[in-house]
Parts: sequence; C-alpha cells; structure tokens
Amino acid sequence: MEEQIRVRFAPSPTGHLHIGNARTAILNWIFAQKSGGTFVLRIEDTDVERSSLKSENSIFDDLKWLGLDWHEGPDVGGDEGPYRQSERLEIYKENLDLLKKKERAYPCFCSEAELEKKRKAAIARGENPDYDRKCLKLSQAERENLIQSGQKASWRFYVRPGEVSWCDLVKDELRFETENFGDFIIMRPDGTPTYNFAAAVDDGLMKISHVIRGDDHASNTPKQILLYESLDWTPPTFCHIPMILGPDRARLSKRHGATSIHEFKLKGYLPEALINFLSLLSWSSETGDEILSVDRLINEFDFERMNKSPAIFDLTKFNWMNAYYIRNMELDRLVDTTIPYLRETKIDTSDRARLKKIIELVRDKAESLTQIRELVEPFYEERVQLTDGKTIALSSKDSSQKVYWAFLRYLESYDTVEAKTFRSIMKQVQKETGVMGKDLWMPIRVALTGQLHGPDLAMVAEILGKDTCQKLVKNLLV
Ligand code: GLU
Repeated sequence: MEEQIRVRFAPSPTGHLHIGNARTAILNWIFAQKSGGTFVLRIEDTDVERSSLKSENSIFDDLKWLGLDWHEGPDVGGDEGPYRQSERLEIYKENLDLLKKKERAYPCFCSEAELEKKRKAAIARGENPDYDRKCLKLSQAERENLIQSGQKASWRFYVRPGEVSWCDLVKDELRFETENFGDFIIMRPDGTPTYNFAAAVDDGLMKISHVIRGDDHASNTPKQILLYESLDWTPPTFCHIPMILGPDRARLSKRHGATSIHEFKLKGYLPEALINFLSLLSWSSETGDEILSVDRLINEFDFERMNKSPAIFDLTKFNWMNAYYIRNMELDRLVDTTIPYLRETKIDTSDRARLKKIIELVRDKAESLTQIRELVEPFYEERVQLTDGKTIALSSKDSSQKVYWAFLRYLESYDTVEAKTFRSIMKQVQKETGVMGKDLWMPIRVALTGQLHGPDLAMVAEILGKDTCQKLVKNLLV
C-alpha cells in the first residue's frame, strides 16, 4: 500500500510567526501539495506562561496571508485531533502510563536546585553533566513514601544504551550515541509534557509520515526516535532544513531587522515574494530561475537539491524580488493590495481611476507597498514642502525662477494639461528662456513633487492637472 503523506507544522504560539518558521511551514505545505498529502497544523502550547491565544491567532492570520491552508488543525478539526497540545494532556498521560508499564519511565524527585548543583560540579570535574539516575535507584517503597509525604515528581524517560541513527532527507545518515544525553524529563510535576515527549506522541498518533523542521531540532530527533521505539511505533522520515543566518553569519535575529512575517507584511512585502524568496533559501530550481510561482515551486521543489549548509538572508535580493512582483502584478490587483497601506494618509482612494493612474506611474520605482505609498502621497499634497537645502537652492536660482515665470505663462494658454501639452509647454519654455536639460526640468520637478528624482514628469503633470500645477509652481516664486 502506498504511504499516505502527512506532514505537520507545529508552531509554539509565543509571538508572531518568525520567518524561519514560516519557511518551515512553506516547505511542509509545498511537500504536501506536491505529493497530494495532508498538511496538519498543530499548536504546541504546553508552555502556558509563554503561550497565548493572541499569538495563535496571529500565526493563523500570517499563514493565511501567505496563502498556506491546512487540512487539519485546531480551527478546522480533523480525525486525529485535538490539534492543540494543551487539549491533549490526557493523551500524554496515557502514553506515559504505557512507558511506566514497560519500565521506560520513572519518577524523579530531585529539585531544580539540587540538579543544578550537580550539573555545575560535574562540569567542574570535566565530567558529563547528564542526570546521574539517582531516582532510578529508589525502591518502590521509597517512591511511595516520597509521594505520600507530598513530594511532587517529574517523570524521566529511561534512555537505553547504544546508538540511534536515521537517514535524514537533507542531512543523510545521522548517528547519535545515547550516552551523550541522560534520562530526560518527559512530564513535568504539573502534568504537562515536555516538548520531546509531546512532539513524539503527537507525530506518532497523528500518523505524520514526514517531520520537516529546522536544523536546530536535529539534536532532539534521537530522543524522539527512542520514544517511538519504546511505544512500538515506526518513526517518521525526518528532514532537517538548514538554518537562516544574517549577513554576518549569526543566526537571524531582531538585530538584523525585521524577522517576523507580520513585520514584513507591514513593510509592504507581498506574500508571493516571501514564498518565492524563502523557498530559495538553501534550495534552487534545476533551471536556475529565481522567479518561481507557487505552481512552479510545487512542481520543481525537492529535498534532494537542498543544500546542507545554512542559508544567508540577503535583503537586497529579497527587495529585488519584491520589486519584481510589484512591477508584474495585474494593475487592479496591485491597487487593491496597496489600498490598505494608504490608510491614515491624505490619499483619497475614492477616486480609484486617479489612484490607479498614479500607482501605474510609480510602481516601477518601488520595492515595497510602503514605498508605493511614499511615491503616491505627493500627488495628494496641497502644497509641496521643500525640506532639504539642495531643492531650496535649486528653486531659488535665477534660471529656475525664469523657468517658473515662463512655465506659468504658457500654462495659462491651455485649458487642461495632458502629458503631451506639458511636453510642448516645456519646449516653449526652453526656447524662450534658453535654459535647457537638467536646469530646465529639475526646477519643475522640484516644484511639482518636492523631489529631485521620480517618475515621468509629463505624466505627473497630467495627473496633477492644470490648477494644481499652477498653484505648485506659484508657490516657489520669490
Ligand atoms: N514547537 C516547536 C517549534 O516551534 C516545533 C518543533 C518541531 O517541529 O518539532 O520549534
């Protein structure tokens, strides 16, 4: 029987969706789409202090914004639920009981302070700081006595000697000696499971076929495989994807700028650019193409072509890619996508035709939707404020003033200003004043936009219209 592909994305709801996690979600989703498999969303919220429903909802929103939909999850349900770990405590307890029966789990009464003291002493002696199995040696009677006296116990997993190995889809054959980690805690005294236990139990019971996650979890995998083994389950296929580093080769963090999907969304990046860019970290298409639609990614992606070394987050490349998507998006869709970014500005979105014309004019100069906003805003200003010395000096030069006076005069003779009319006005101004090239065009650009650079000036003038052009140029007469 062919294996049913089931993958999962298992975020902890402790903040916004980090781009590293988003990339894990994207690769899981692509893999599911490619193989006709099931994409499960599981919320790992056993850390009650740090988890919140607000974070959970923001993760849902960000995943939806990226266009990643899930077949099973806390909100949509499914046959293998519940999909929130906090709702599965009974299930962990049952599986702990199974491990107890098989003598693979034992209670530990050691206090955190005592464990810490021992760890420090072992490190000072140059020895392995793993748990010394003090509580494994307790007799049944001693355990019962301690429980009777009100002592709370955590539960440790008994780690067998020997080796654990697996064939990772990215990292190939991996081997770990179990003596490198001691008997680890699987259940805390308050009855909540630790990450390794909950993840292994859930992946097993949810019939996950492929665990695709960040490389930082590779050291947890041998522990999870041991748990599978003791529960008589076959482990899934593991796939550890390389980490994302900043340009300084340190792990990507706040220090490097925006790191969450939410922040990138606010900055005006497009979901399709994010999906494309994040998929290309540590992976490339056989064709060498960099711009890859979701359909092509689903077609062409495979873990065999994935690099083993970490990926560097290159913001310049990301900006280039976002600009590409902005330039090539269907214009009406771009207008719709940009409108939410125009809130709290003076931009009047009710005149859609005008807004569309402006966006069409400026889109080639923008790397993000917030940059589109900056480029659109001047078209809605009543007055252009010159703020830097260069533009102020330029506008008050004698030759510029000559240009302004002539411009206003010729403008007067037209009823409206189309791009074509504007160009012929400029020709007449040049003829009359003898001012040419940059000295002719720049002062007008500064008057109409306040900037030294920008989109086609004739189109700018057409969009502003005769009255506004007149008012703006008059503003700069001295
Ligand atoms: N909750 C874990 C995390 O966010 C999931 C790790 C895993 O995929 O097993 O890192």
